[in-house]
Amino acid sequence: QFDIMKLRDPSYQCYITMMEEEAYTQAEEIQRRIDAGELFNSTLAGVPMAVKDNICTRGIKTTCASKILYNFVPTYDATVIEKLKQAGAIIIGKTNMDEFAMGSTTETSFLGATKNPWNTECVPGGSSGGSAAAVAAEEAFYALGSDTGGSIRQPAGYCGVTGIKPTYGTVSRYGLIAYASSLDQIGTIGRNISDCTAALEVISGHDLKDSTSVNQLNYSYREALVDDVKQLRIGIPTDYLGKGLDEEVREGILNAAQIFRNKGAIVEEFEMHGVDFAVPSYYVIACAEASSNLSRFDGVKYGYRTENYEGLQDVYKNSRSEGFGNEVKRRMMIGAFVLSSGYYDAFYNKALKVRAIINEGFQRAFEKYDIILGPTAPVTAPGLGESLSDPLKMYLSDIYTVSVNLAGLPAVSLPCGRDKKGLPIGLQLIGKHFGEKDIIRAAYSFE
Ligand code: GLN
Repeated sequence: QFDIMKLRDPSYQCYITMMEEEAYTQAEEIQRRIDAGELFNSTLAGVPMAVKDNICTRGIKTTCASKILYNFVPTYDATVIEKLKQAGAIIIGKTNMDEFAMGSTTETSFLGATKNPWNTECVPGGSSGGSAAAVAAEEAFYALGSDTGGSIRQPAGYCGVTGIKPTYGTVSRYGLIAYASSLDQIGTIGRNISDCTAALEVISGHDLKDSTSVNQLNYSYREALVDDVKQLRIGIPTDYLGKGLDEEVREGILNAAQIFRNKGAIVEEFEMHGVDFAVPSYYVIACAEASSNLSRFDGVKYGYRTENYEGLQDVYKNSRSEGFGNEVKRRMMIGAFVLSSGYYDAFYNKALKVRAIINEGFQRAFEKYDIILGPTAPVTAPGLGESLSDPLKMYLSDIYTVSVNLAGLPAVSLPCGRDKKGLPIGLQLIGKHFGEKDIIRAAYSFE
């Protein structure tokens, strides 16, 4: 595995940290456990996997692809890491991402962009671009990502792999460095839905260390890996096929819909309200939460500290000015602004109301349908550099993914063909709350 990584990573730059020595130590420990008769029922035992660099790993640098955390070594494991280790997974490295998971291209990383393995002139998507590209380039069997507004599904879509973001509260966020806490959720990226599901099953579960974690009875998602969509009711919001959608992506999605029909599912278009308002509402809420979450990076407690200061105020100001990149600064400023006393009602409160409307729209849709189908993104992977000059355009490209996080729903992105340039097209299947099994079954049947 490390031979492949060393050969390919100079071209794709999926990894921030490779953990070769640690991996061998883990492998020996796993062998010992297997010899002792443990792990016989773990599907993940001994399988090499990668972790996005915003998930804390004890003793291993966790940078969020930011200068402000370039030297941060956590003293504890995130709950998901504990669970994976328990299951005998071998963590082989930490993957590149947009700085603090803010972005859709993995270009805002302090360490430079990851490249799309299908075409190195294109972005891999983001923010979990390193994880998706690593899986696509076979530099890992599967990987963890985080999804605040599409960061698992969109890079999975651009890289032609499968990614699942579970229902909010299904996977513990303990040890995930927060971007927007009411939206963040950890999920898995793999070469197919079976791999994603096996890993999701291991990392899911109630955790007392995360107060938003939910206690469900049944996490056996692998039961849903069956090829049967007969009578499954699938709805396609008309607006998901409307303006702004690339023609080849539309064709790919309509083809996929037809495949479901042929397999016996009931597929129809319907009107869903609030689609247009999802992006503005998302960016107001995400930035507001980010401005609060990121205030802890002050140059004092951990991470980067400026060398150039005279008093405490200077330490804060200069460490933050020098430590954060432009996109992160932009979002913290927007966040502080929408939360400020004079504008709170006009922006933040209004965004919360829109969030409620979006939620309602989904609830109503799920009275009629088991699954909502649509594209993951309006286009296939853009060229490197294209989005950096036009952040607004980049934000708008999140149109199909962000509403899922606003409503806390589960969704999967899986490949459904390619465009003429050979770039993968992503198909998104959205489920109702705790409806992971529906989307897993549909994804499995589609594959
Ligand atoms: N592109 C979105 C953003 O920049 C989503 C990022 C994410 O899910 N972490 O906020």
